[in-house]
Amino acid sequence: QPAPAGASAWLTVDAGAIADNVAELVRRAAPAQVMAVVKADAYGHGLATGARAALAGGANWLGVAQLSEALALRAAGVQAPLLTWIYPPQADLAAAVEADVDVTVGSAWNLEAVVAVARALGRPARVQAKVDTGLGRGGVLTDWPEFTVALARAVAEGAVEVTGTWSHFAWADAPTHPTVRAQEQRFVEAVAELEAAGVDPGLRHLANSAATLTNPGAHFDMVRPGLAVYGLSPVPDLGSPAHFGLREAMRVTARLTQVKRARAGQGVSYGHEYTTPRDTVLGLVPLGYSDGIPRHAGNRGPVQVGGRRLTVAGRVCMDQVMLDLGPDFDGAPGDEVVVLGRGADGEPTAQDWADAAGTINYEIVTRMSPRLPRVVV
Ligand code: PLP
Repeated sequence: QPAPAGASAWLTVDAGAIADNVAELVRRAAPAQVMAVVKADAYGHGLATGARAALAGGANWLGVAQLSEALALRAAGVQAPLLTWIYPPQADLAAAVEADVDVTVGSAWNLEAVVAVARALGRPARVQAKVDTGLGRGGVLTDWPEFTVALARAVAEGAVEVTGTWSHFAWADAPTHPTVRAQEQRFVEAVAELEAAGVDPGLRHLANSAATLTNPGAHFDMVRPGLAVYGLSPVPDLGSPAHFGLREAMRVTARLTQVKRARAGQGVSYGHEYTTPRDTVLGLVPLGYSDGIPRHAGNRGPVQVGGRRLTVAGRVCMDQVMLDLGPDFDGAPGDEVVVLGRGADGEPTAQDWADAAGTINYEIVTRMSPRLPRVVV
């Protein structure tokens, strides 16, 4: 692995893995299209890197949360169709329309604001209608019938062009949960209500990674995976990334910065939550919670040194963690430590760290700090 100059810890992004993962998702979703979700800096992999790799793998669309992310992609020269779902301040809507970014409208108020901007610009805004089928987050919930009428009026006036209609699951990671079927049914109904109001719904989409991988009945015209694009399993109890034909795109590596002998009974790190059980060798790893290593994973987070699996000794500090390398350790400062790697190769994974910290793999990758230099391979 190449190490950037001056860095004793770094994050490697395998763009080829992202492209291959998307190609696998394209294969699974066909004939539905694929919108690769690249919000949150492409789940920590780098916004433009993630977007370009996803498009290389065959993604038809890109999806982001914030308009600022969509505009950053346009500024980076990405021309693919792009949907944003967190409604931007009205003052920024003109920029969205001018950059050909599709804006999600999830309330009558959203729609009115978009129509006003489109009128002022003298060109239609590309919008996607968001129905809340049960997540209780964004989208039109009880007012859908009134909303469909207002949308039909805006289309007839030429103020908006509806490119899609969509919703989001609450329990996609539990495919047999009754809300999954209920949300699918409500989605079908809502689309029919829109059509009855005279509006072509455009691309219908509902499935995130979990539904893309486990629920073909929810694919509709397009799927909207995020996590799986980066080679992680959204349903770890149902299958590993390899099980779904995916491979991890993020790798976090460091070099041991110090190796030293310690006697039995040596307290290690703040609060001495680890004490050496025997004479041993301690190692320092230059990664801490400010880099995105979860502080809750003290005494539990896994790493690999020289092919050997070890657990972080004691609390995670801001910039460092310690390891008990064992009495027979014969390595040296500069030896590589794999913090996040490929599960299929026996390396620690984002899921292992999530289990150690009591969180989800999404949080592990999206919280890797910008301080960690990114190397794209
Ligand atoms: N669609 C929406 C609206 C989202 O907010 C997200 C991410 O949370 C996704 C799709 C992708 O979800 P996942 O990463 O579970 O595939």
